[in-house]
Amino acid sequence: MSRKRVLITGAAGFLGSHLSDRFIKEGYHVIGMDNLITGDLRNIQHLFSLENFEFYHHDVSKFVHVPGELHYILHFASPASPIDYLKIPIQTLKVGSLGTHNLLGLAKAKNARMLIASTSEVYGDPLVHPQNEEYWGNVNPVGPRGVYDEAKRFQEAITMAYHTFHKLETRIVRIFNTYGPRMRLNDGRVLPTFIGQALRGEPLTAFGDGSQTRSFCYVSDLVEGIYRLLLSDYASPVNIGNPAEITINEFAEEILKLTGSNQKIIHTALPKDDPKQRQPDITLARKLLGWEPKVSRTEGLKITFDYFKSLSPEELLRSAPRFA
Ligand code: UDP
Repeated sequence: MSRKRVLITGAAGFLGSHLSDRFIKEGYHVIGMDNLITGDLRNIQHLFSLENFEFYHHDVSKFVHVPGELHYILHFASPASPIDYLKIPIQTLKVGSLGTHNLLGLAKAKNARMLIASTSEVYGDPLVHPQNEEYWGNVNPVGPRGVYDEAKRFQEAITMAYHTFHKLETRIVRIFNTYGPRMRLNDGRVLPTFIGQALRGEPLTAFGDGSQTRSFCYVSDLVEGIYRLLLSDYASPVNIGNPAEITINEFAEEILKLTGSNQKIIHTALPKDDPKQRQPDITLARKLLGWEPKVSRTEGLKITFDYFKSLSPEELLRSAPRFA
């Protein structure tokens, strides 16, 4: 029996590597692709010996060639943290726009179904709470997050255009804050930052007054939602995330407790355009996919902390992202 073939871009990243694992487990032939700007081959090194896994070191902002049949394309290549957007803004814009265009062209040529990784950032600093898929968002196109937010909004637009004009089979997942093993320790996102600070014996830096909220989804729940969405027949955007909302101050307290740290929480400047609140409305995903998150924050944070603890002390101390 020949295996279904799936191309996963951003395969060496946090989400891409977990998706690669899942599709391998489901018996697919997985073709991973990554330019390794923010990805790390160590996230997928355990897959290299498998006959149903192959890897291309390639930047999808350039023409993408994949020999042979393709049944599915999952576009997960993109810098995905506010620090990354500031350091590599042009690449962030290109991978969401030019990269998406290249992959849609590939999907059309191969008659493949394409799923794109969109984001809660399309809602910007939301004026509707919790955010449902009907909300159009409140985004500053020229702010520091604009390069990511607008690339992702363009990505949704061009994907819908290929769907309506070329009749391409497409899926759009709007991903809310997700965490788990293989997050980059120094990507600036709140969870690895707090855990890194606790492990190094530093105070935890809550930005602003720490009253802003986020809702954190454990990675295996997200992957399950994406897998179900891909196999569904629904082309409009679907939120996938965990509605359990928490302030950043409360989150910092949880991390101190989890890590056994006796450090303080200090408050530093709030970055520009930092959304004040974020919580997914997952009514649609529940109805359409029969999906909802299963892993509690207590459970997920413990697994994630064990992962970070297993990293070498050198890695823990290394503070500059590799592309700096
Ligand atoms: N944050 C913080 N301290 C940090 C890093 C982040 O208080 O050291 C806050 C940040 O201002 C935001 C929230 O944590 O309100 C989540 O930030 P993250 O960068 O993880 O993702 P975002 O949801 O903002 O894209």
